[in-house]
Amino acid sequence: MKNLDGLEELIRTIPDYPKPGIMFRDITTLLADPIGLKKAIKGMAKPFEDGKVDAVAGIEARGFILGGAIADRLECGFIPIRKKGKLPWKTIGQEYTLEYGVDVIEIHEDAVEPGSRVLIVDDLIATGGTAEAAVKLIRRSGGNVVGATFIVDLPDLGGMQRLDALGIPRHALIA
Ligand code: IMP
Repeated sequence: MKNLDGLEELIRTIPDYPKPGIMFRDITTLLADPIGLKKAIKGMAKPFEDGKVDAVAGIEARGFILGGAIADRLECGFIPIRKKGKLPWKTIGQEYTLEYGVDVIEIHEDAVEPGSRVLIVDDLIATGGTAEAAVKLIRRSGGNVVGATFIVDLPDLGGMQRLDALGIPRHALIA
């Protein structure tokens, strides 16, 4: 396991949440720590500080907290990607598969400036289904996905390989 200056210790692991057999990585304990939060934001933004990001797209809900701070750091705007039915204006939706069934995430149809360079932000990547759906939404909106950044990667679940297959530069602080 890669340890980024004690960040890993700030993440709480909750066994059997939300269902038996799942080890849930709870980052709220990291968010509550002033040094941990600062390090996480800095580390997530670092590979993308070359001035080539026009907007950060954060995935509901923890991607909003991290994405807002990263957008401020990169001096660009923020675009919310939300669960179905939450955005007030006209939306584009993208289905993705879960362990059982399907889910949908949405973006406002005019949120992405065509040709703009968008960085995807979420707290954690597992199977990569959510991140892949976010990439598809941004591409369908006319944007270029310049990267995806996370605090945690669960490497056994293959999410990063899915992003590689889509040609997306990806970054995580802890595996
Ligand atoms: P994926 O689509 O399988 O990659 O799952 C990633 C999405 O589920 C992200 O939006 C995460 O916030 C959420 N998620 C899955 N597992 C965990 C976990 O252990 N802790 C926190 N979030 C998780």
